[in-house]
Amino acid sequence: MEHFNTPEEALKKLFGYESFREGQKSIIDAILEGKDVFAVMPTGAGKSICYQIPAVVLPGITLVISPLISLMQDQVKSLNEAGIEAAFINSALSEMEFANTVESAKAGAYKIIYVAPERLMTEDFIELAKSISISMVTVDEAHCISQWGQDFRPSYTRIVEFVKELDKRPIISAFTATATENVREDIVCTLGLINPFTLVLGFDRENLFFQVERPKNKEQFVVDYIAEHPDESGIIYCSTRKNVDKIYDLLLAKGVSVAKYHAGMSAEDRKQMQDDFVFDYKSIVVATNAFGMGIDKSNVRFVIHFNMPQSMENYYQEAGRAGRDGLDSKCILLFSPQDVIINKYLLEHKEELDIDPEDLEIIKERDNSRLQAMEKYCYTTECLRNYILRYFGENRDEPCEDCGNCLREFETIDMTDAAKKIINCVYEARGRYGRGIIVDTVLGAKTARLKEIGAMDYKSYGVLNSSTKNMLMRLIEQLIFEKYLVVGDYHVIRLGDISRLKDPNTTVMVKITDEDKKPAKAKKESKKSASMSALTSNGFKLFDKLRELRLEIARAENMPPYIVFNDKTLIEMAAKVPLTDAEMLTVSGVGDSKLKKYGDQFLKAIEEAVKEYPELRKEG
Ligand code: ADP
Ligand code: ZN
Repeated sequence: MEHFNTPEEALKKLFGYESFREGQKSIIDAILEGKDVFAVMPTGAGKSICYQIPAVVLPGITLVISPLISLMQDQVKSLNEAGIEAAFINSALSEMEFANTVESAKAGAYKIIYVAPERLMTEDFIELAKSISISMVTVDEAHCISQWGQDFRPSYTRIVEFVKELDKRPIISAFTATATENVREDIVCTLGLINPFTLVLGFDRENLFFQVERPKNKEQFVVDYIAEHPDESGIIYCSTRKNVDKIYDLLLAKGVSVAKYHAGMSAEDRKQMQDDFVFDYKSIVVATNAFGMGIDKSNVRFVIHFNMPQSMENYYQEAGRAGRDGLDSKCILLFSPQDVIINKYLLEHKEELDIDPEDLEIIKERDNSRLQAMEKYCYTTECLRNYILRYFGENRDEPCEDCGNCLREFETIDMTDAAKKIINCVYEARGRYGRGIIVDTVLGAKTARLKEIGAMDYKSYGVLNSSTKNMLMRLIEQLIFEKYLVVGDYHVIRLGDISRLKDPNTTVMVKITDEDKKPAKAKKESKKSASMSALTSNGFKLFDKLRELRLEIARAENMPPYIVFNDKTLIEMAAKVPLTDAEMLTVSGVGDSKLKKYGDQFLKAIEEAVKEYPELRKEG
């Protein structure tokens, strides 16, 4: 390995990036000073570089504990591409491969070794760990250590035990994208971090546009969206396998380039479909939430949730798979009240392994309140971005002016009369039912459930039959917000303090959306068009050529295209039109190693394009 004088030099030479992003430098500096580190950074912020650069600079080996095999393999590929010696040790290795890796490790062939947590305390691995010099242990996805987290991995709790086996305590650095207060405490305590340098970056992902829609026909919405966004890579999440199959068949029949993924498919089929998507053979994937773990595809332009997920944690993680390259991307949630029912069913039938009854009670409660927060996100008329950030503990004063709600046109109407009718109905229901039943009752719905509970005999039955379900749901939200109603256990609605309503001057104003009005165009200058707009029409042609070349290389080398170069890098190439190695190196994302590997091919393609369109150079 070459010697680097500064982390900046390593960043440029290895990864081809000009400057560190927020937080990266301070973490790297802390590690190089020998400090433990705890960093909470949102997905896509660039955690990997924070430990990979110190790993290269530190004298010994860095062990990276990572929970997902596929992610490990991707990371190792990327590192090797950047010219960094790295390997992984997990169950995907045969005994033979394991023995070879161990031998190479002992011979000093690697700077970074990724290891699955289950491996740590095995005899073989401890033997290896003792015979090499370990400078740092990095715990990736550190929230897996916490029972509060969604992805608790018992073997993570044994990391400390493993570290104690070592002759010399290495630096310990821990990284995660999800961390509520509880989880943070768990991580710092359970890992035994010593006075860690701690960095918590904002959770905002500026390039993501959030939007909640309640289309009458979700399938049509998806079909139209894809037709309006041809060539864009996207993920469509559904809550059930049945939905996945249905949407997949529908899109396939429409001639869309689509893959699917759910746990009911064979491992082989899943792998094939996943690769088809990651390698850009297929532009869309329809999947359950089983899909995406360990997938690091950077050019996903949209994530559509066909159904509401079970929690904001899940939602933000899944939606966050859009726009990892920093370009503008959309996160659209298609909501229908039916989703809440499906989710309740799924939660009730969730398999809980080895959990004692007391914990189970806590987990159930937690699941329910998470679901409620998710539901609220679908109903809220406030800024969606702020809603998300507040959920994760960040408070903003101003609406973002760049989300579905901020750009939607609301009409504020006086619903005082309807409010009183709803309150009467809640009174009649004596706080035993949820909002669905209340709304159905005043709407005068003819359901078996209403009959069963006798709601059809209420005075309130049908008193608001000219209203709509959505309007009344919004009204109930508002009444809860103003504390006229309160939500009890199991989501039942009870009366709150209604005395103010007796004053004839009190009004209840509700923001109603015109469902047919789609969100207006974004006000902010779009990042994608900003960088794309740096391209002339010839530039576009060049960009396409470069993309083709990238695809060719990726297929020949059996790698996802973004590992060769990501979209941002190709756009910059098409704008700068570099003709020499030196010019090529000024493109963000082109480092020494990639220049050596791919420089000639890309320069040749650019040269050919310049011959064909001489204006390219002048325009660029
Ligand atoms: P995380 O693990 O935080 O989700 P990654 O480490 O995968 O994020 O980084 C996300 C993307 O950002 C990757 O494509 C990575 O190469 C890129 N990236 C990271 N740091 C920088 C930087 N300083 N400049 C430009 N791109 C960067
Ligand atoms: Zn907003």
